[in-house]
Amino acid sequence: VIELGTPQRSVVTTCAYCGVGCSFKAELNGDQMVRMVPYKNGKANRGHSCVKGRFAYGYAQHKDRILKPMIRDHIDEPWREVSWDEALGFAARKMRGLQKTYGPKSIGVITSSRCTNEETFLVQKLARAVFGNNNTDTCARVCHSPTGYGLGQTFGTSAGTQDFDSVEQTDVAIVIGANPTDGHPVFASRLKKRLRAGAKLIVIDPRRIDLVKSAHIKASHHLALRPGTNVALVSAMTHVIITEGMVNEAFIRAKCDWDEYCQYADFISDARHSPEQTEALTGVPAKEVRLAARLYATGGKGSIYYGLGVTEHSQGSTTVMGIANLAMLTGNIGSDGVGVNPLRGQNNVQGACDMGSFPHELPGYRHVKGKEARQIFEDAWGVDIDPEPGLRIPNMLDAAVDGSFKGLYCQGEDILQSDPDTKHVAAGLAAMECVIVHDLFLNETANYAHVFLPGSSFLEKDGTFTNAERRINRVREVMKPLNGYADWQVTQLLANAMGAQWSYKHPSEIMAEIAATTPSFANVTYDLLEEMGSIQWPCNDAYPEGSPIMHVDGFVRGKGRFIVTEYVATDEKTGPRFPLLLTTGRILSQYNVGAQTRRTQNVVWHEEDRLEIHPHDAEVRGVKDGDWVRLASRSGGTSLRATITDRVSPGVVYTTFHHPDTQANVVTTDFSDWATNCPEYKVTAVQVSPSNGP
Ligand code: SF4
Repeated sequence: VIELGTPQRSVVTTCAYCGVGCSFKAELNGDQMVRMVPYKNGKANRGHSCVKGRFAYGYAQHKDRILKPMIRDHIDEPWREVSWDEALGFAARKMRGLQKTYGPKSIGVITSSRCTNEETFLVQKLARAVFGNNNTDTCARVCHSPTGYGLGQTFGTSAGTQDFDSVEQTDVAIVIGANPTDGHPVFASRLKKRLRAGAKLIVIDPRRIDLVKSAHIKASHHLALRPGTNVALVSAMTHVIITEGMVNEAFIRAKCDWDEYCQYADFISDARHSPEQTEALTGVPAKEVRLAARLYATGGKGSIYYGLGVTEHSQGSTTVMGIANLAMLTGNIGSDGVGVNPLRGQNNVQGACDMGSFPHELPGYRHVKGKEARQIFEDAWGVDIDPEPGLRIPNMLDAAVDGSFKGLYCQGEDILQSDPDTKHVAAGLAAMECVIVHDLFLNETANYAHVFLPGSSFLEKDGTFTNAERRINRVREVMKPLNGYADWQVTQLLANAMGAQWSYKHPSEIMAEIAATTPSFANVTYDLLEEMGSIQWPCNDAYPEGSPIMHVDGFVRGKGRFIVTEYVATDEKTGPRFPLLLTTGRILSQYNVGAQTRRTQNVVWHEEDRLEIHPHDAEVRGVKDGDWVRLASRSGGTSLRATITDRVSPGVVYTTFHHPDTQANVVTTDFSDWATNCPEYKVTAVQVSPSNGP
């Protein structure tokens, strides 16, 4: 039962779940939140919301919140509640001690895509300016790091190229490896509105997602490919466009590197990339691929939207580059209604990447090896910055197991639940001598922590989030931090306990530092955000009011770059023991590992993760709808109940990963993207067998 009091005041802020970045009015009665009302002036959502955002305030006030800092010497000891001073002093001494004993690079940080830009900026600054190394990484490592690499290589910057508004100009949309209805619901409703008005849709996904056919919507083509064959399918589409003469040569000559295009065209024209020759591999009829390619190339303005079904593969970066090739071939970049758009899963993945959370990149996507970029931060911070890239999350864990990485500050991430190969993550954490977890709840990672610093929710802080269309939205303090400090303040206190002298009094001062050091944010201020409501970067002297569409006058890198995309099969193979392929996804009411949504009203819509299995595969295994089954892979096993459905093809099974009892990552492999180490969550060879229960 939801009891609504009479709201006495309201504050406009931004949803802290997905990358759509909906604006809400948080309404309060005294200090008590009574409801979240979608804000009609919010430019990303235009007054709409989904069930996650509506009830998000539930977790902020949940009884499970930890509000007092805690420490312990060993992970098998009980926690001791202590003052903030004692906890921070303990953490600082431990981290400095580790550096003295094991070397300056023996410690690092993990930033959060759930926290604000300002908080994330400070955490990477903590690593670079206080720890003295580049050991900073973010959960984008396990989701959209291939976007960073792929779009960076081809277009010159890691970001979606068009705004959500411009979907209203699109004639043909490709949705590949994404399920917007569940993952990005408010964007999905804007897309559906456009489809109802006559735009065409091509869905590329192993599973028959809702967009393929639902009320008043029917995709023109559903290319239900075999998991792990994205590169071959996208190459087959580009093969058709080139060999059938549908290339936008004027666009390529004007905006792309012509020589690289010619090399790419030679490569992709080879018959081995044709839909006919790749049909057996992808499982998609050649005729369908040809029709879809023709529709995208000749059907008018084309937009591509993609998600983790593209990135979380051993060739995630290659598929991103293949998608970029597809758009450049047809001139579908740089104007209203066309573009390439990663649908970001978390509220501030875009921002975390923009803010330099990666071990090789300073804020604004500048490589740490670049002297000029380093100089900007060295001057601003008064320190020398290490020119060597630091460790990625999996490298930190490997180094911990090997004994050279000893201390971690982990803000707003539950890596034990969310990262692949749970046993290896646990071994890495257990081998460290100081793990500092900074979070709302005592999460699974905290089982291996020595210091727990209570986090603050999105309702308790000022700052900004950047959504999937590069829109910088204000996050406003709705209530005072229940633990006494917003997250940015805690990071500052830790830095100062380690010898720094930071003195930020408000996140607007951190934004001023971001603007002074990061060209794409050069003109961003809180005053401008108040005036405009939100701003899409780049926002600088060249684009004083921000940039809804990118690459208008040419690509950020100069000439757009075609890159040869050779299909390489994943090392994860099916065989007699593991004959099925598992792929994973989300449902509407839940969010990632469920740490927040299971502590809100949303829990009533989701009690368990289920395994979707095709009727044929279920029958041969003697599995009936609702039966418990054992899901096993080479990595491990779990039990869950089966749903028999032809949404999945024979040979493919599917599950969500929201519930801690399921622990889907016990099953997934440790294979990862060749360029970025993004885990291959979307392809696991498994066996399914009847079971008696959990
Ligand atoms: Fe909007 Fe995403 Fe929040 Fe739903 S979860 S309200 S779509 S930002």
